Amino acid sequence: MSRAAICLLLALPFAVALAAPQEPPRPGSQAVQKCTKCRSQGRMPCPEHEPDECQAETLVQYCSMVDGCKTCAGVGWIDCAACSDDAVEKDLAARRGEFARGRERLAPYEQVMGRELRMVEDANFVVIWELDELKVGKQRLGAHALAHLYLARMQAIRRSYMDALKANPADFKVKNLMMFWGLATDHHRAAAKWCEMTGDGSMKLMGAVANFTVCAARKYFPDDRGLHRHVAHNLSHLLLSHQAPSNWLGRVGAGWADEGLAHWIEDRALQECGTYCYEEVNTAEQPKPGPWRPAWRKAVAKGDVPGLPSLLSLNTDQLSAAQHTAAFSFVDYLLQLDGAKVDALFKLLRQRKPSRDALIEIYKKSPLELQSDWHAWVLATYPTVK
Ligand SMILES: [Zn+2]
Ligand SMILES: [Zn+2]
Ligand SMILES: [Zn+2]
Ligand SMILES: [Zn+2]
Repeated sequence: MSRAAICLLLALPFAVALAAPQEPPRPGSQAVQKCTKCRSQGRMPCPEHEPDECQAETLVQYCSMVDGCKTCAGVGWIDCAACSDDAVEKDLAARRGEFARGRERLAPYEQVMGRELRMVEDANFVVIWELDELKVGKQRLGAHALAHLYLARMQAIRRSYMDALKANPADFKVKNLMMFWGLATDHHRAAAKWCEMTGDGSMKLMGAVANFTVCAARKYFPDDRGLHRHVAHNLSHLLLSHQAPSNWLGRVGAGWADEGLAHWIEDRALQECGTYCYEEVNTAEQPKPGPWRPAWRKAVAKGDVPGLPSLLSLNTDQLSAAQHTAAFSFVDYLLQLDGAKVDALFKLLRQRKPSRDALIEIYKKSPLELQSDWHAWVLATYPTVK
């Protein structure tokens, strides 16, 4: 493959990664002299990697896939020898220190799995990426690009969650460990070790420590879109169960809130829903993914929908497919009213307040009154066609 083609291959995911908000200190801010060598940036991309890769490394604390580079010590950038910029030099030194600490932090994962792993870490996530390749759009991407792409996507999903609920960052205490395996045997081992359960489907540990593992082989996820949606859905579960006060709503009678928000986050990321946690709904009966609003509007207009009161005490594994859609739409309704109120509501639910009482406390309305407002809003705002 030509070098130009490789650059093209890398351009898409790293462009996505660049859109993430963790902007590093802007290089060249203190440059006093004009330097043609580095265009007055004070630093240059490490010649051992593609320029786009170097950009992606500025967004992470550690990446095992550039670890071992003698030229840049893994940070992707080197000091420009032709000029001097104190701020940039300090930043590079700090990043080299952070990188070395990241290597130490992540070493235990390799010890458990007994081999080197592809790992990336930033402020919110530790990603183990052991899927060799995947077609994204029309491009087949390798592991390094995919690890950074999925990390950028997880950051976007996390931002959707934080923005929707106006959540307080101080309510989140640990990084999420997110593992993507090519081999089912690795997934089983990781699930037993870090999610305290095992099985072929993706596994989650929820609550004070919130981890996720999936075998992303083609057999389970034929395309990137399905995997992306699955991650959006499950990351919502992880964040909601972890956010203080930590508790998993799916098993304390508030499955509607847990599933409703997870579907809403899927919809926000991909404009479609359709991920059911494996144990929730029989896979063979799962409807195809798609936008849920038009069909739900039609059902509401016909009066052919499950009532809100019937949803309010069920666990996740007790929800029917229609109740999943109802939960999505009800959360959609509540979020557009006021995200901060939903955050307060979900906190009450995690403290085990029954859904009915929590809704009355926050909205000063009975479930039936809320249902009638919600349905009126659906009829007034949801599209009739896809
Ligand atoms: Zn320079
Ligand atoms: Zn990297
Ligand atoms: Zn390098
Ligand atoms: Zn779910």
